[in-house]
Amino acid sequence: MSARMSALDSALHQLDQAVEQLGLDEGMHEMLATPRRSMEVAVPLRRDDGTLKVLKGYRVQHNFSRGPAKGGIRFHPDTDMDEVRALAMWMTWKCALIGIPYGGAKGGVAVDPRLLSRNELERVTRRYASEIMPIIGPEKDIPAPDVGTDEQTMAWMMDTFSAHKGYTVTGVVTGKPVSVGGSEGRGGATSRGVMYAAFSALREAGVDHRGATVAVQGFGKVGGLAAQFLHDAGCLVVAVSDWKGGVYNARGLNPAALLKHLKSGADTVVGFPGTDTITNAELLELDVDILVPAALEGVIHEGNADKVKAFFVVEGANGPTTPDADKVLEGNNVLVVPDVLANSGGVAVSYFEWVQDLQAYFWSEDEVNDRLKALMESAYDQVSTMARERGISLRTAAQTIGVGRVAQAHRTRGLYP
Ligand code: NAD
Repeated sequence: MSARMSALDSALHQLDQAVEQLGLDEGMHEMLATPRRSMEVAVPLRRDDGTLKVLKGYRVQHNFSRGPAKGGIRFHPDTDMDEVRALAMWMTWKCALIGIPYGGAKGGVAVDPRLLSRNELERVTRRYASEIMPIIGPEKDIPAPDVGTDEQTMAWMMDTFSAHKGYTVTGVVTGKPVSVGGSEGRGGATSRGVMYAAFSALREAGVDHRGATVAVQGFGKVGGLAAQFLHDAGCLVVAVSDWKGGVYNARGLNPAALLKHLKSGADTVVGFPGTDTITNAELLELDVDILVPAALEGVIHEGNADKVKAFFVVEGANGPTTPDADKVLEGNNVLVVPDVLANSGGVAVSYFEWVQDLQAYFWSEDEVNDRLKALMESAYDQVSTMARERGISLRTAAQTIGVGRVAQAHRTRGLYP
């Protein structure tokens, strides 16, 4: 295997492991490896200067045997069909693992949102939404935010879908602002879930989380609030990073102050007063207790896995560790809490949001957070029990549970015709 395995190679390799654990036949393996629907669309954009640029957009529905497809929309220059396929597959196992009635999907536009004006971003979002409209809807496929998109993107998507329908359809996307049918607690849900997953792992290992040192790669929607929640719970967050690089302070950073700094217009954490500058590569190799990769796929690979000194890797990002790296980390006794478990808080609360939208009846933030905690702790227990019983990694156990439930749904429904 190459040192830079693609996300799709990683996802298919992980599926192989789960299929082996479950003893599934070749036909079922092929069924689970193949997306049900893949759509590529042209997204023409009129730039503010009057010129026209045609972007590529994607939406992949990997599986809907357990319910409508669900998954985020990514705006990133490197997004392509294979990446979206991998991310959609991970969504299928994640939803099945945490027991919510969805299949997996993912979408994206190959564009760097940082290079677009707000008006251009709105036009890209609305055109992309109208291009994929034939296959999305509250009972078909429900998008959400991912890298490079946010609650404003979701508000524009919901508005575009509703304008075409002629009435308001809040349940078509999740991760919306609370003012237009979003859920309390959705904004911080993935990050809160990362914290619950980390604490479950530490508790099981008999380690007190108070005073535990943390490094977070990717100070975005997931990483930013994960750093803050971990800090607020008593951990010492010593390093965080973004696209430009990282900041380090052995005595601890103040994530809230860093978030405020970004909110007030800074485009990076680099250069924040009272911190030393480090690279993203250096951050991954810091001598900390907990490492939270919360940016992109494949950042821990064969070339650097041996240098990871953390005791726990808690995957806020999807697919940050390649299968080659998994082997090295396991050999070095680094406990990896896998993406489909560690970052499942986002889709869990997306599910709560969708349920609230369909019922037009909204819950308090405490209710949302309590349900999230119960769901994640139960998923962690199931995964760690299987891992112990079978002598396998948390990742293989998590994937085995998820894949097994999807295979079961296929068997129960039967094959049409
Ligand atoms: P985001 O766009 O809000 O943040 C991404 C962060 O990563 C930013 O700080 C960005 O500067 C940084 N980054 C970009 N390129 C980088 C690079 N090469 N090196 C280091 N940092 C880099 O995205 P997000 O929603 O926080 O998503 C982050 C990860 O979490 C993704 O893997 C995503 O699929 C996953 N995830 C997100 C959610 C969610 O609810 N948003 C849920 C589950 C999983």
